Amino acid sequence: MKIGALKETFEGEARVAMTPESALQLQKIGHACFIEAGAGLVAGFSDAAYEAAGVTLIKTTTDLFEAVDTIVKVRRPSVTEIRYLKKGQTLISFFWPAQNPELLELCKDKGATVIAMDMVPRISRAQKMDALSSMANIAGYRAVIEAGNHFGRFFTGQVTAAGKVPPAKVLVVGAGVAGLAAIGTATSLGAITYAFDVRPEVAEQIESMGAQFVFLEFEEAQDGAAAGGYAAPSSPEFREKQLARFRELAPEMDIVITTALIPGRPAPKLWTKDMVEAMKSGSVIVDLAAERGGNCELTVPDQKTVTDNGVTIIGYTDFPSRMAAQASTLYANNIRHMLTDLTPKKDGIIHHNMDDDVIRGATVTHAGAITYPPPPPKVQ
Ligand code: NAD
Repeated sequence: MKIGALKETFEGEARVAMTPESALQLQKIGHACFIEAGAGLVAGFSDAAYEAAGVTLIKTTTDLFEAVDTIVKVRRPSVTEIRYLKKGQTLISFFWPAQNPELLELCKDKGATVIAMDMVPRISRAQKMDALSSMANIAGYRAVIEAGNHFGRFFTGQVTAAGKVPPAKVLVVGAGVAGLAAIGTATSLGAITYAFDVRPEVAEQIESMGAQFVFLEFEEAQDGAAAGGYAAPSSPEFREKQLARFRELAPEMDIVITTALIPGRPAPKLWTKDMVEAMKSGSVIVDLAAERGGNCELTVPDQKTVTDNGVTIIGYTDFPSRMAAQASTLYANNIRHMLTDLTPKKDGIIHHNMDDDVIRGATVTHAGAITYPPPPPKVQ
């Protein structure tokens, strides 16, 4: 089949869905690869590098849609891009079908198959295609780097001839994929790291990464875990306990990285205005939940703000794009693995097997119908 990668059109998006390396792998399983000229430039992949990897350059978006059977991209398609889709064509990208029902309708009307990378079931077998985890890992890492960029001190403690420097104290709220990546990065830079999550089972993972789990004294054992390893909303009593503990920690912490989310809900507000006011001047908050409203009450999405008491609050929502080379490499690999599963005989022929849990789960339109939401996967 002919696989083509589009140049992203979302403002500021620097990632690309195919790299020269992923193209080489796709060719090994019988596919021919195409890319819109300049699509990889901002991520550090030149047109010449693609050509050297056997990829055909296509000058315009419309020509790419004409030339290929399967389109790959990063961001959900725009209405214009969907207009170019042809009957029987496949599109693989992030899609967020629950938030974009009208785009889903348009793709169905076009008779195109859409595979949403955000819908890949989070089961062991599908980890190699789990683009959400790939991107969350990068966001967690980058959050610490971004914090360090705005924090005027060392992470690690030092004893120097000019004086003793205490280590920075970092609190990570929410220890999913992004939170664990942030913990790993902060501890490797020498910070004293603390972390909190409502799911008690993550305490061990937090501690194994060198951070201290923030325990709550709570009479009734609350199980903060819901299905699929995700969190359930907290009871008001639990939340009050949690906020009281954070109020104690606020004056001590130099950097706070918040990543707390519950699927399908706005981000819980966990770092309140009074906590920000209690922090030291020069402290930094990085709110990875900014796109869903933020965990911090004072976060402004896509902005960096500085409060009157000198606390920097970072609400950027494009952390993976800020590490476009790394993010593109991992995302293109996730796509390549998806295409490998779609090409079981490695003969360049796509077999869209709707009995396969992973393919079924990620397919949101197929054969002229909307196939979202999928049934729950049979295997964990
Ligand atoms: P996420 O981005 O949806 O949420 C981030 C974290 O916030 C979660 O750990 C959640 O428990 C926590 N949280 C929610 N409300 C909170 C609150 N009030 N206070 C503090 N923390 C709060 O999570 P994610 O990174 O997508 O990962 C969620 C789970 O899925 C994890 O257990 C992860 O290991 C699991 N997972 C499994 C697979 C797999 O098996 N293939 C792949 C990816 C993730």
